[in-house]
Amino acid sequence: MSPPCLRLILGDQLTPNISSLRDMAPEQDMILMCELATEATYVHHHKQKLVLVLSAMRHFARELRLLGFKVHYVTLDAQDNSGSFFSEIESVLARSGCRHVALTEPAEYRLQDQFRHWQQQHPQWQIDIREDDRFLCSHDSFRRWAQDRKQLRMEYFYRQLRQEYGILMEQGQPAGGQWNFDRENRKPLPANRVMPTQPQFMPDEITLDVIKLVESHFGQHFGSLESFNHAVTREQALLQLSHFLDSSLPLFGDYQDAMRQDEPWLYHSLLSTSINLGLLNPLEVIQAAQEQWQQGQAPLNAVEGFIRQIMGWREYVRGLYWLHMPEYASRNYLNAYRSLPSFFWSADTDLNCLQQCISQTRDYAYAHHIQRLMVIGNFALLAGLDPEQVSRWYLEVYADAYEWVELPNVLGMVLFADGGEMASKPYAASGAYINRMSNYCKHCRYDVRRKSGPDACPFNYLYWDFMARHESLLSQNPRLGLTYRQLHKMDEEQQQVLQQSARIFLKSLDQTD
Ligand SMILES: Cc1cc2nc3c(=O)[nH]c(=O)nc-3n(C[C@H](O)[C@H](O)[C@H](O)COP(=O)(O)OP(=O)(O)OC[C@H]3O[C@@H](n4cnc5c(N)ncnc54)[C@H](O)[C@@H]3O)c2cc1C
Ligand code: SF4
Repeated sequence: MSPPCLRLILGDQLTPNISSLRDMAPEQDMILMCELATEATYVHHHKQKLVLVLSAMRHFARELRLLGFKVHYVTLDAQDNSGSFFSEIESVLARSGCRHVALTEPAEYRLQDQFRHWQQQHPQWQIDIREDDRFLCSHDSFRRWAQDRKQLRMEYFYRQLRQEYGILMEQGQPAGGQWNFDRENRKPLPANRVMPTQPQFMPDEITLDVIKLVESHFGQHFGSLESFNHAVTREQALLQLSHFLDSSLPLFGDYQDAMRQDEPWLYHSLLSTSINLGLLNPLEVIQAAQEQWQQGQAPLNAVEGFIRQIMGWREYVRGLYWLHMPEYASRNYLNAYRSLPSFFWSADTDLNCLQQCISQTRDYAYAHHIQRLMVIGNFALLAGLDPEQVSRWYLEVYADAYEWVELPNVLGMVLFADGGEMASKPYAASGAYINRMSNYCKHCRYDVRRKSGPDACPFNYLYWDFMARHESLLSQNPRLGLTYRQLHKMDEEQQQVLQQSARIFLKSLDQTD
């Protein structure tokens, strides 16, 4: 029989068959779970994220005990909570005489680095840091794939994983004869379309206790708790998944980029929180979506579009993160240094699209991909906001935020701060894009058709000002050839007028803080 082992479970490792628990001997091993103030405050996470993680941890500990496992659970307000993973582990080891520790590698560089150091400092214990195989692509496989490629592109990585896992494949070929149905997707939402409702998860006693705890310890953090409705157990996560498959997946592809005033969810799955916590396995979600297509319940464009997000983007950003950390976090290719405006916290802005997306973020700790990328992110890019501050904001405000997924999305996809490693061109857009994909402009005090002047949509002149400002870095990008030809077609005076409007707007932005 192997010696007793202490098994550590972190807040986003809520999976019964995770690698650290796989060889568990219930009669002698113990599981340790800790709620740490340092994890809640290294950035000031949204209150809903804190309630979500702590409540899901407490529910998971209860399930483990029901399965017959011994769990030592340290609550945030326990008198002897030492505030550190390492002192908690060391104190259990000292009490129990146990000399073996098993854990699954932490998902973020910050924690993984701390654990590796701690492992080196304690050769007297056998500390086994295991791979997190809940992801579809291991660190080694991603490195091998990335090696020798001049340019990394998600599309090719995604195709390889589709083949490897046999997802949406028919006789070695992509189902439907093509890998990508993007051209059929991304439609604006018809005005009369009624959106699916979302399942409601009534907070139970555990969640109500955690809500009180979070209000009393972290009341000053961003966000409201009134509308807390995140899945905190696997049972609830499965309910969210089946609701999505039945009600939203068939139209997911068509409207995945659409936005509508006062409608936060549209046809999105709301599954990122559950997948990131480990309540759902990404492969089971992918296979469930594939089955809907196989059974004729959802069209291929929708199912492929959805699977691409999880099998493609989610795995790809994780691969990039581990390939380039820790230096990735300090990249700033476009030399952007403007401070984050205060309306990122208050939502007090007369740009209606931003007001909508930020207030929704405050109320639900959620915004869907296009709101994060093409409204808030687009503004941050055009206004030249500092990547470090923008990254920190995204990490603080979303319930699904973890650095391994947030950072490449923000630095790479949104801000082009990695110089094109993640995205082949900056996702910069004028107001016309937002107007095409939403009805926000109808409710806005600015005129999306005007290019300059006090009533013009700020995205319009900021877009051209951005292109002019970064001409030396961007004009050689083949995907921006048309944009720069349009810029050069404008006469000097037109360009001056646009840049003057941008200067006035950006100055007022700086002065409001
Ligand atoms: C600037 C920015 C920051 C982001 N930060 C995070 C983050 O911290 N955590 C996070 O989980 N996602 C992040 N995303 C990706 C994406 O916005 C969210 O996963 C998605 O909005 C979650 O809502 P949903 O579950 O309804 O997603 P759906 O639209 O239903 O998509 C299905 C699933 O695909 C995955 N997914 C989709 N797009 C991405 C992507 N670009 N990268 C990784 N996974 C993706 C998610 O697991 C998601 O649940 C970010 C995107 C941007 C542009
Ligand atoms: S007009 Fe411009 S600022 Fe107003 S909602 Fe439309 S895109 Fe946003």
